[in-house]
Amino acid sequence: MNTPDPTTARDAIVIGGSAAGLSAALLLGRARRRVLVIDAGLPRNRFAEHMHGVLGNEGAAPADFVRKGREEAAGYGVEFLDGVVESVVDVEGGLTVTLADSRVETARAVVVATGIADELPAVPGLAERWGKTVLHCPYCHGWEVRGARLGVLATSPMALHQARLVRQWSDSVVLFSAGAGPIDPVDARRLRARNVALVESPVVEVLGDGAQVTGVRTADGQVTELDALFTAGVPRPRDGFLAALELPRTDFPMGLGSFLTVDQAGKTGHARVWAAGNVVNPMATVPMAVGAGALTGGAVNGALMEEDFDLAMADADARP
Ligand SMILES: Cc1cc2nc3c(=O)[nH]c(=O)nc-3n(C[C@H](O)[C@H](O)[C@H](O)COP(=O)(O)OP(=O)(O)OC[C@H]3O[C@@H](n4cnc5c(N)ncnc54)[C@H](O)[C@@H]3O)c2cc1C
Repeated sequence: MNTPDPTTARDAIVIGGSAAGLSAALLLGRARRRVLVIDAGLPRNRFAEHMHGVLGNEGAAPADFVRKGREEAAGYGVEFLDGVVESVVDVEGGLTVTLADSRVETARAVVVATGIADELPAVPGLAERWGKTVLHCPYCHGWEVRGARLGVLATSPMALHQARLVRQWSDSVVLFSAGAGPIDPVDARRLRARNVALVESPVVEVLGDGAQVTGVRTADGQVTELDALFTAGVPRPRDGFLAALELPRTDFPMGLGSFLTVDQAGKTGHARVWAAGNVVNPMATVPMAVGAGALTGGAVNGALMEEDFDLAMADADARP
């Protein structure tokens, strides 16, 4: 193993430059750390024109939010590299990060903020309207479709919760329940008590006009007219490039899959690797990812600070 070159190695490399990564980088930059952000430029919410529920940035375009965040972090000396990280491996005293174009960067610490990919239901007409009128989060986009004809396309039993939630934004809600399995009669009564309609026939096509959903066709040939459709993709954390480190993983609650195990500040099972945002919490919205990134940035600086003192002590002890 090679030791990172102290003249070129960064204190921290942040992989992923969106809400969580930029927030961690801002903290670290302001702590006078040498920071490099490596980003592939594909934030999860890039399909939406505006983001909501984000205090101070309410209604901002996702791209503008990232641009502003980059400028703010760059103001404290944070550097940026556009690219895709392919692997992270241990070296003595740090980690080596290799990009798809074979560039290699080293650092004493790595923050993983690469988010998730949403694996969408394979229904024709759905993916092209994702983030426009096919939606996942009523807190993010419910206000914009309040009072409209809303559908909920089940992909798991969690859809019952989603349907009850969406009911808060409209009194016209239809749950397409095939993907949730058989519905318990008590659950069905509970939904119907607030006029949530249940359709058991599987959805075979999402109908629309451009980005606008106009309805869904079910396997029985029926068309239900809608103005928007809520659904949930399967969250796939973008962390495959960490495979060589063999980090511990945990099953996320609600059957959402396997994610890196982290403590509250984002520390993984590796002493030099932290993770924040959707990559470890698929439920995090933008402000939650920003908060997690800030907490992680502080934790990374704290660990580096302790190491700085350890190294200074060892140096002092080695002197005659
Ligand atoms: C359609 C849609 C709309 C949404 N609307 C809202 C909203 O209105 N309000 C809200 O609060 N939340 C919204 N969200 C949720 C929001 O997208 C997430 O909370 C937020 O993006 C999480 O931030 P993050 O930094 O963890 O990950 P991301 O924003 O996904 O950023 C991850 C970054 O890492 C990069 N990356 C990934 N892999 C690599 C790699 N190997 N090498 C280098 N870089 C890499 C990606 O390109 C990306 O830039 C929405 C989500 C979706 C799907």
